[in-house]
Amino acid sequence: MNPGKQLRDLQEIDYELAKTGETLSHVEEQLAFNHELSQAQVDLANKKEQLADIQRQLRETEYSTEDIVAKLKPQQKKLYDGSVKNPKELASLKQQVDQLEEQVRAEEDKSLELMDRIQSMEDVVVSQASKVRELEEEWAKKRAEMLTEKARLEAALEDAAKRRGQMAATIAPENLDIYEAVRNRKQGYAVAKIELGRCQGCRITLSMSDISRARAAELVQCDSCGRILYLG
Ligand SMILES: [Zn+2]
Repeated sequence: MNPGKQLRDLQEIDYELAKTGETLSHVEEQLAFNHELSQAQVDLANKKEQLADIQRQLRETEYSTEDIVAKLKPQQKKLYDGSVKNPKELASLKQQVDQLEEQVRAEEDKSLELMDRIQSMEDVVVSQASKVRELEEEWAKKRAEMLTEKARLEAALEDAAKRRGQMAATIAPENLDIYEAVRNRKQGYAVAKIELGRCQGCRITLSMSDISRARAAELVQCDSCGRILYLG
């Protein structure tokens, strides 16, 4: 077989190997990380943390209300049980009771506001959790598909590598060496077709002698780009 054509066939398999390998890497990259899902999970964790924080604020407000009420109760009793007779003392006691009652009202308002915020944040958490669940389900399905695709690509790679090995074994080692050297220099494009008397690799017009040598069973390289030539 003409060495140019042999190497052209080898190049086809090398292209196939490169392309399949690239697709496989892409699938592996996608399998490794789901940005959307991971972002949604982080968001959910943040929202839960915010909810816990508001719940903590509510508990603190409730404790603080209890403290004020504990101070208020005996003062109210004293104010209304007639034990204080002195009008000045009574007025001062009344003022203290008013102040404490005002503080209790303020704390209760704060509690109500916090309860509202808890309610809203609980809704947000529920909706974010359901979004995460949906994404997880989607991901499980997509992941299964990608794993099937990965297995298919791995088998295709193995098959192509086997075919390459078999084909390379039929090529003269010195020609294989030239092919590998040119392939390294020319980013994989080592074998170029001769079309209308030109090298398709660099478009230069070839000499008649190069063309006839390529037609015979010789390995011919383009004078200009060094690629191995073959007649289609
Ligand atoms: Zn050329």
